[in-house]
Amino acid sequence: MPIPQRRPEPPFPVLRAGYVVDFHNRSACSQCTKDGCPSLADARETLRAWRNRKNRS
Ligand SMILES: [Zn+2]
Repeated sequence: MPIPQRRPEPPFPVLRAGYVVDFHNRSACSQCTKDGCPSLADARETLRAWRNRKNRS
């Protein structure tokens, strides 16, 4: 029985990071300051690490 080829789903933290970045394209969150946003910085780092891992394998 053939197994349908599916892309592996990103883990929840990665999905959440993508949502956070997308959200910041439109508006600010509760953690945003004029100097930047720790939440957004964290999300970008999470996405970057995920992309780097995918490229390697
Ligand atoms: Zn923010």
